[in-house]
Amino acid sequence: MPAVRRAKRPQYARLFTLVRTPLAFLPLANIRGWSHHDQMLTERAPRNAALRAEFQRSDLLASLPLPPDNRFHELAKSIASALEAETTAGIQPVCAEFLSVAAGFYGVEKPGIRVLAARPIRVREGGWASELFGDYSPESLQIRVWMRTAVRKEVTSFGTFLSTLCHEFCHHLDYQRFKFKDSWHTRGFYERTAVLYHHARGTPVKRLFWVQMRGGQWRIDWPRTQRGT
Ligand SMILES: [Zn+2]
Repeated sequence: MPAVRRAKRPQYARLFTLVRTPLAFLPLANIRGWSHHDQMLTERAPRNAALRAEFQRSDLLASLPLPPDNRFHELAKSIASALEAETTAGIQPVCAEFLSVAAGFYGVEKPGIRVLAARPIRVREGGWASELFGDYSPESLQIRVWMRTAVRKEVTSFGTFLSTLCHEFCHHLDYQRFKFKDSWHTRGFYERTAVLYHHARGTPVKRLFWVQMRGGQWRIDWPRTQRGT
């Protein structure tokens, strides 16, 4: 999953460099979205001391409780089957069931879910753009995930789709279970997301290796993460 995304990144950057204007694609305020470009890059810590403390709490929280059985994995397999059928109507109920069972396990309210067709393209400062895979609204507790690629309209791979769903659900947990004031993309956030995703997918969790960048942000070190050392 990660290597494929990493390889695609320059292509998207090149492909959409000239797409500068469609304001309708800009993300709404308070929507926590996810794209190729920012998926494994942490945000900067807030300047405000109280928020910074919350950010650090999120950064340090690298684990997530998991059920002792395979209830998430069974539902993930249903999502894989529904994806093969390639209709949003078929996928939405199984995603809702997955989220309902997960919310029940974590003791939080069930989030809403909408499965949509082709991903919107999000344009950023500087003129480059990326595809939006999913987002979450802490006000409406609503998750949206897109099941087709923006340009070629191909169905998203199961791994990408499931990891997006887990990612957005982890935003929900940040607000509803951990009571963070915001749901930042911290190292801890990505670790929690990976724990949930690999458990649901039935694959072993890899240790994530991080590299610190200028300005205090962290990005994942994919070669080390793939090697495991
Ligand atoms: Zn996110």
